[in-house]
Amino acid sequence: MSTELTHLDVTALQAALAAGETSAVEVTRAHLDAIESYDGELSSYLHVDAETALATATEVDRRRAAGEELGRLAGVPVALKDVVVTDGVPTTSGSRILEGWLPPYDATVAERLKAAGTVLLGKTNMDEFAMGSSTENSAYGPTRNPWDHDRIPGGSSGGSSAAVAGFLAPWAIGTDTGGSIRQPAAVTGLVGHKPTYGSVSRYGLIAFSSSLDQAGPMARTVADAALMHEVIGGHDPRDSTSIDAPAAPYVAAAQQGAQGDLTGTVVGVVRELGGEGHTEGYEPGVLEAFRAGVEQLRALGAEVREVSCPSFDLALAAYYLIAPSEASSNLSRFDGVRYGLRVGDDGSRDLDEVMALTREQGFGPEVKRRIILGTYALSAGYYEAYYGQAQKVRTLIGRDFLTAFGDGVDVLVSPTSPSVAFPIGQRVDDPLAMYAADLCTLPASLAGLPAISVPCGLSEGLPVGLQVMAPALADDRCYRVGAALEVAQDAARGGTFLGQLAARA
Ligand code: GLN
Repeated sequence: MSTELTHLDVTALQAALAAGETSAVEVTRAHLDAIESYDGELSSYLHVDAETALATATEVDRRRAAGEELGRLAGVPVALKDVVVTDGVPTTSGSRILEGWLPPYDATVAERLKAAGTVLLGKTNMDEFAMGSSTENSAYGPTRNPWDHDRIPGGSSGGSSAAVAGFLAPWAIGTDTGGSIRQPAAVTGLVGHKPTYGSVSRYGLIAFSSSLDQAGPMARTVADAALMHEVIGGHDPRDSTSIDAPAAPYVAAAQQGAQGDLTGTVVGVVRELGGEGHTEGYEPGVLEAFRAGVEQLRALGAEVREVSCPSFDLALAAYYLIAPSEASSNLSRFDGVRYGLRVGDDGSRDLDEVMALTREQGFGPEVKRRIILGTYALSAGYYEAYYGQAQKVRTLIGRDFLTAFGDGVDVLVSPTSPSVAFPIGQRVDDPLAMYAADLCTLPASLAGLPAISVPCGLSEGLPVGLQVMAPALADDRCYRVGAALEVAQDAARGGTFLGQLAARA
């Protein structure tokens, strides 16, 4: 029974809990046992608090038995990426500089999940400050991909992807600045959605690049992702960029998509993301699975067109100026005074020295690289040439999207990542190769648009994701088209994607 419980998707778990077929304590214990026996291999969690999780679950069961009103997700376990601030629970953002810090408040996403009755299993591993595509930049060691333990689980939300794909959490929160929900979802066979910028509160997410950061769901099914998005989304006065519009009915959109009829939907295939003349850097097996996925969309009734978005070729260069620039500013708050680590404060050194020593020891190499890059790009003499230019490119990318959507295209599609999960260690010493993992996810990030990754097949036995991008606030289109693809995929495979992984174990 306990393996069965960890293999249920959230929609099924909710039903089993509501019907009294299982209890919150049973479900929580099943996941804690799985973590205990398997996470030594995966290292997907940085922090697990079994006692608190069981106490929360016990309280849910008590309230259910007493007939009290329960939240929508009562008794459903969840894992949070360690960039999400949690009241009284260690939060490191994958960095030594925050080791030992206990936040005094909950991020809005954590608060909303708590209010809905979820049980927090723990905090998941990540690239330090969300900078990376493999989780190898974590100060606490790499996480392994459940499909192949010698490979990366993607990044920066690789702890979340590995935990969910490894059946150590039914779903998890990830954050995405340039692809960190979608790419790890793609390479572990999960669904991952980056919401429209501003539609999920950033309050309490440790900032990397504030104009890009968004939290979102990583789940085993499109319906589960939609459900989590409904719970965490919506206006938050504590985030100045939060959009004051009601959350769209994402679950209904997923249900509609699951009917498997895309008649009337126009799907644009982006030439610059793996299309003709733009295949350099893309693995043939990825392109093959992607094209097969597009054919499935066509078979479901969608009209498929090729679309050109010429400025997308510049997305990587623009992103790697804008994101480090914002990071260099955001990370100045880690000064050895306010949070976590403090080095050399023995009475013999002044403030500047302690700050320098703390930052020297507290930050890893990729974080330092970005701070230096960003500081340079923002410096008086170079601001216009680098940061200013990158912002102009960002505008052009947004215009390419507007043109495509203005021409009657409902959604744009591409592979999520140019490659399947690569071997641990392969790209650690080659930052540019690591950055290339974001080729397809960056345009939607820079334009603030919603994008989902849904599994579309295997290449060399490893998962490939198909990305569906939509206009701002049209996240429901991602869920509708994503769910339709999922149904077609499952039908072709004769089961769910992760079922295939589970069958191997
Ligand atoms: N891999 C990209 C980077 O390193 C994106 C990270 C993210 O989305 N957080 O910046």
